[in-house]
Amino acid sequence: MAHRVTLIPGDGIGPEVTAAARLVAEATGVSIDWDIVEAGESAIRATGTPLPPAVLDSIRKNGVALKGPITTPIGSGFRSVNVALRTELDLYASVRPARAIAGEGTRYPETDLIVVREATEGLYSGVEHWVDRDHSAAETVNVLTRKAEDRIVKFAFELARREHRKKVTGVHKANIMKTTGALFQTAFREMAAKYADIASDERLIDNMCMQLVKKPSEYDVIVTTNLMGDILSDLCAGLAGGLGVAPGAVYGEKAALFEPVHGSAPKYAGQDKADPVAEILSLELMLRHLGEREAADRIWRAVWEVISEKRVVTYDLALPGYTNRPVPASSCSAMAKEIARKIPLVDMTSPLPRPSAPVAAVTSDSALETG
Ligand code: NAD
Repeated sequence: MAHRVTLIPGDGIGPEVTAAARLVAEATGVSIDWDIVEAGESAIRATGTPLPPAVLDSIRKNGVALKGPITTPIGSGFRSVNVALRTELDLYASVRPARAIAGEGTRYPETDLIVVREATEGLYSGVEHWVDRDHSAAETVNVLTRKAEDRIVKFAFELARREHRKKVTGVHKANIMKTTGALFQTAFREMAAKYADIASDERLIDNMCMQLVKKPSEYDVIVTTNLMGDILSDLCAGLAGGLGVAPGAVYGEKAALFEPVHGSAPKYAGQDKADPVAEILSLELMLRHLGEREAADRIWRAVWEVISEKRVVTYDLALPGYTNRPVPASSCSAMAKEIARKIPLVDMTSPLPRPSAPVAAVTSDSALETG
């Protein structure tokens, strides 16, 4: 039976990279019935609102969505569609694996990290205002609840256990933020005590950034709050080869949404230039979530082969960078076609070039008691 999946093409480069992912999905042979809905700028043009109720209805009904990036106006204009989707659907666990692929585009070819980020509260709660009429002062409230922080740290430890990861690092700023920092730290410490089989440690966010840049291989699964996780996941994407190859997912109890870490890159919109890999690897995560393990493995192997052969790669991977082997850049659609062509040809008997993407089952709130 076909999987029914909501598809949000998004803004900027979104339509190009989601078309690339669809092409690759087709090559796997997995039957997917796409329910295409518009959110973001195209939805404003069509309906006057960036997040029409039909989008939320479709995801609620299908339980699974693949999404392209959506533009958010800076400083004013509508609230982020991404933040609204996560809070409306309670998609609380953002999972962003940062896996270096074939050593391309990175100084750190061994990078294999997973950033788990609470995605529904913290500094993205939307509680903010100007203090006076002159806009000379402003406040954004960092709302943290014990319930949400307990469930995200539990999610991270469960993910680590299931994926045979060795360590979970909790990241906060409890030395300065005495209430929210302490709340997260306490949630992390109490949960870590229940997972004796997994090592745990803590880092202050500033030190974490420095440690990651100096020795990323000492870290494994990182769990943190919303804004810190947003920043750390871009940093880790940079360690692994850049935003062009960084996939992501957000999981809730009732739905899961798969989307790249990158944004809509408006300067490349409509040029068939953007790297499609982040969206294609988000599809890989989605197929794993749907139980289509072989198709997901084929995608991971095909992406690895295309990037290591370095014949048909987009500009970000063709640059001299750290590889000393610059090649002419291919288009987004050409790279997607090359990945799709490889899908049926990859050698499934050879060992996977690096552990596959994490499978992130969601734990229910009631399971919080049991540890
Ligand atoms: P961006 O990720 O769009 O771009 C940052 C840099 O990375 C740019 O240099 C861009 O050219 C490059 N880049 C991004 N994706 C790439 C790809 N697939 N291939 C090659 N290069 C790529 O970040 P930004 O410029 O800060 O944001 C642009 C817009 O996207 C903003 O409106 C922002 O709010 C939005 N955004 C959306 C999401 C999302 O939908 N999940 C995430 C981040 C940013």
